[in-house]
Amino acid sequence: MTTAQHRDRILAAVDAAFDQQIAFTRELISCPSTRAREAGIQDLMYRALESRGLEMDRWELDSAELRNHPGYGPSTVTYDGMDNVVGTYRPAADRGRSLILNGHVDVVPTGPEETWSRGPWDAAVIDGWLYGRGSGDMKAGVAANLFALDAIRAAGLDPTAPIHVQSVPEEECTGNGSLAALLRGYSADAVVIPEPEENMLVRANVGVLWFKVRVSGRPTHPREMGEGFNAIDAAYTVMGELRQLEDRWNSEKSSHPYFGDLDHPINFNFGGIRGGDWPSSVPAWCDIDVRAAIYPGVSADEAWEQVQECLHATRLPLTAERTGFYAEGYVLEEGSDAEETLAAAHRHSFGSDLQSFTTPGYLDGRVFTLYGGIPSLVYGPVSEAIHGFDERVELESVRKVTKTIALFIADWCGVEDR
Ligand SMILES: [Zn+2]
Repeated sequence: MTTAQHRDRILAAVDAAFDQQIAFTRELISCPSTRAREAGIQDLMYRALESRGLEMDRWELDSAELRNHPGYGPSTVTYDGMDNVVGTYRPAADRGRSLILNGHVDVVPTGPEETWSRGPWDAAVIDGWLYGRGSGDMKAGVAANLFALDAIRAAGLDPTAPIHVQSVPEEECTGNGSLAALLRGYSADAVVIPEPEENMLVRANVGVLWFKVRVSGRPTHPREMGEGFNAIDAAYTVMGELRQLEDRWNSEKSSHPYFGDLDHPINFNFGGIRGGDWPSSVPAWCDIDVRAAIYPGVSADEAWEQVQECLHATRLPLTAERTGFYAEGYVLEEGSDAEETLAAAHRHSFGSDLQSFTTPGYLDGRVFTLYGGIPSLVYGPVSEAIHGFDERVELESVRKVTKTIALFIADWCGVEDR
């Protein structure tokens, strides 16, 4: 157990460096690290970790190696120049429990930038909120990991177990960044992932599949439109059938622990649609990009089979291919030491009990739990509009979450006076 005196020193150290932490988070947000453009932010992360004296590791994601793993999500982009960065703290004496502090640096597209109140990469602080794409999801968390570890050392303490600080890409589309870190050999007794979770702990979350459906048409001149077959019209039928599968899966929610109380846990999102060549030809093709959710315990293979059956039942000329996430969901089993330690740290930081909840979104936690047997604590700050316009994260929440993580490190890994 961390002593009360150590605790006070750690909490004070988080406060003392919080302006710096905000400044660093703003630097992260000002890197437009959308998919396949993470090199700049990984340079920044490498320098930040290295300057703290951590043992550094940086390597390119390897599709050939990842492809053989059941948790791999097929990638539609090349991994040339796409790196993971890990900084490891090695204790002089190793007698505690080891830890991974994980965060992703990739962010989702901005959408039309003119609809934002200010530039998505401006990282403005207004009335206690920090704005920008990736502010909540999850650059505030990435910085919180780093500054939580700083606070321990600024308090004159050294952790007594190894800590791996991981900065990964690909969380928003495949999960292959964290998977690559696992395959690299990184393991620990627990992992903390400070995703924007409203100051709560994720108890369960869905798995996700990405796929593309291509509907084929028969192009004709519109004067003989009746002899053609319109792929765009047919795409509506496909989407209608997928909505029915979504309804069926939602109707089964009560047989999945932690999902029965959710209104609509399974969401199929039609995230993109493209088709046809121009107005005066009956369209020969239409592509639909789909994100579908699945319950924990349902394998990606099983779900994919049901999706394909649903598509074939339309009897339309179509093909379907996997284009990203092929990921199962996970449940954090109740009563783990890791959870109890986090709950105690949260109580000291927030002065209230730690709540847990189920989220219908994807999280990299599944990589560590399903394939590494590592309890995943996904826990992080209050945010708004992640994946939307004017994304923002609440700074007081970030401060308290950072304190929780710092106290968790101290208790979980153990600390000694330097
Ligand atoms: Zn995220």
